[in-house]
Amino acid sequence: MDTMIPTLIANARKILIKIGSNTLADQDGRINPLFLEEFAAQTTVLIKDGKQIVIVSSGAQVAGLSTLGNWARKQDIHYKQALCAIGQVELMAAWGRAFAPQQLHIAQILLTRDDFEDSIRTLNMRNTLFTLVDEGIIPIINENDTVSVEEIKIGDNDTLAAQTAVLWSADLLILFSDIEGLYNKNPKEYPEAELVPEVWDIATIRSQISLGGTNNFGTGGIATKLDAAARAVSYGIPMILAHGRQHRALEALAAGTQRGTAFLVPSPLQGVK
Ligand code: ADP
Repeated sequence: MDTMIPTLIANARKILIKIGSNTLADQDGRINPLFLEEFAAQTTVLIKDGKQIVIVSSGAQVAGLSTLGNWARKQDIHYKQALCAIGQVELMAAWGRAFAPQQLHIAQILLTRDDFEDSIRTLNMRNTLFTLVDEGIIPIINENDTVSVEEIKIGDNDTLAAQTAVLWSADLLILFSDIEGLYNKNPKEYPEAELVPEVWDIATIRSQISLGGTNNFGTGGIATKLDAAARAVSYGIPMILAHGRQHRALEALAAGTQRGTAFLVPSPLQGVK
């Protein structure tokens, strides 16, 4: 398979990986512990290879729902926030169990939009991230839904992942979703849709493709993934969008046996004659 993805992974030392709720959860809306375990095992291989990993993990609401199923239909914002508070504990416990066999510890970081707008908070976040990673701990980041009412929400973890990648000066951002990559139209509606393997110019691709809605648990949709790519690439960080639930996805991407979309950083001399 002719893809840039293995080279991007091989060349990156600091990798930020975002995992969407649909990737973490089964069809019935429960966190899939086997997925987490396999993911932790693959992450460990990369760490032993000298790489550093930070994870942005969605799934608090999903985990909350499976703990308190009778709240499923309560749309009230306070119930939603309460559900995330309940589910966040479950989510982190699941991650803790997944990394335990690898003898790796995890750390929880919950962030809001304000945190990225205040220079002192930003500095503290950066220092904490560097310290954790240097000590071999896996930071697992999520939005702090308890304090994030609509007006102050980052709103989706694609944006949170891109912001954190910039803050941590990552070499590569990987977004794992329930889709193989960027298509010219939503493949869930159009089976004939074609995967775009490489993107060098996000503004152009945005005007060429059609962006369908989001799915069950996700809040972002493909548009926020393009925004995340634009943000990362503008700071010189390439991004990979790939399917997280294919067999040992991280390994397969590194080996070049799984497809995905690579958003590449154009060389500063491109287009210069
Ligand atoms: P996640 O929960 O993983 O963040 P989202 O549900 O927010 O994922 O967004 C991914 C979804 O976006 C895909 O499952 C797909 O149905 C939809 N989508 C719409 N348009 C496109 C497109 N052009 N290419 C790929 N996916 C698309």
